[in-house]
Amino acid sequence: MSYHSVILKPKKEESLQRFHPWIFSGAIQTIEGTPEEGDLVEVYTANRYFLAIGHYQIGSIAVRILSFDRTIIDNSFWRERIRTAYLLRLSLGLAGAENNNTYRLIHGEGDHLPGLVIDIYAHTAVMQAHSVGMHHARHQITEALREVMGDSLRTVYYKSEATLPFKANLAVEDGCLYGGEIEDIAVENGLKFYVDWQKGQKTGFFIDQRDNRLLLESYAKNRSVLNMFCYTGGFSFYAMRGKARTVHSVDSSSRAISLTRKNIELNFPDDTRHEAYAEDAFKYFAKAENAYDLIILDPPAFAKHKDVLRNALQGYRKLNAVAFDKIKPGGILFTFSCSQVVSKETFRLTVFSAAAQSGRRVKILHQLTQPADHPINIYHPEGEYLKGLALHVE
Ligand code: SAH
Repeated sequence: MSYHSVILKPKKEESLQRFHPWIFSGAIQTIEGTPEEGDLVEVYTANRYFLAIGHYQIGSIAVRILSFDRTIIDNSFWRERIRTAYLLRLSLGLAGAENNNTYRLIHGEGDHLPGLVIDIYAHTAVMQAHSVGMHHARHQITEALREVMGDSLRTVYYKSEATLPFKANLAVEDGCLYGGEIEDIAVENGLKFYVDWQKGQKTGFFIDQRDNRLLLESYAKNRSVLNMFCYTGGFSFYAMRGKARTVHSVDSSSRAISLTRKNIELNFPDDTRHEAYAEDAFKYFAKAENAYDLIILDPPAFAKHKDVLRNALQGYRKLNAVAFDKIKPGGILFTFSCSQVVSKETFRLTVFSAAAQSGRRVKILHQLTQPADHPINIYHPEGEYLKGLALHVE
């Protein structure tokens, strides 16, 4: 098979030789052939040495690398990549476990498949393409999933309407690529929850907080918990299991709040320790008594691009300052940022300045990140997006 060729400018191959999986459009000297968005292209140095093969895209990231070898991107390529990822999740005790059927199977660059995310909820795989190349490959990927996962896979739901570059004008509709059984309850660490994979955010649930939720559970006993930005209540049901005295869940989306209530009911029917409020975070804090001794702040990404970073940091600082003001002495604060453009150091500095502003004495107990099924390709440090701190506030 012959592919189109992308020839880099002199010296622009260095990051690729260190296995960074992206080529920016500014690094390209010429393109031979007429690749369309999503086509496979081979990448060469200015001196015509082969470097890699990947998906071509119109935009600032021009090529997402699939292989640094001269590989043919066929069914066996997809099968092997997916099998490698699946074996890792089995070895992590996430796949095939008795008390857990929720995990990320493919985490883009972290699984050497840039542009692709696949989350597993019980017998359903929810697939998200972030590049046109992955969109074109969706049926091959579905085939590979079926071969690797066998009977444990019954449905593949494609959810890319919101993640594909809209300029590509693909008129994609979300829907099933395989199966079609609507199975909407999944299990994480023994707790059940409804996954709104059709209308919900991301693929329906924030799987990336699994380990942090488990840690939170160990702090919950006898505490009054506020789960701010609760979405479908993940941290709340762990706090309930951890024997919290009370748990209040807050989110500005009433849809999220009704799902939170359903999830609590599913695990802790008629348990009066829990209440949920559809309200803006700052408004809620303004009214709240200083009644909480365990607060979770897991806001949406305040900064999706570098140019709004300053405002985003202000947002994180204000939010954390309010929590420091409100939390009871001896309280524990779990605070997060999932903005990729906010580094671990910057986030810590921002929380530091919020703490200083409140005048409270604060200790870092844990530095938190994303779990092992959201692996970070060491050559692609941009893949580290979730960071958090568990703090003790005197
Ligand atoms: N902690 C959750 C994920 C949080 S996602 C989990 O473990 O599943 C961020 C949530 O913040 C979304 O549900 C969104 O509806 C909510 N949100 C966004 N802006 C908000 C605001 N101003 N006040 C309260 N909630 C907000």
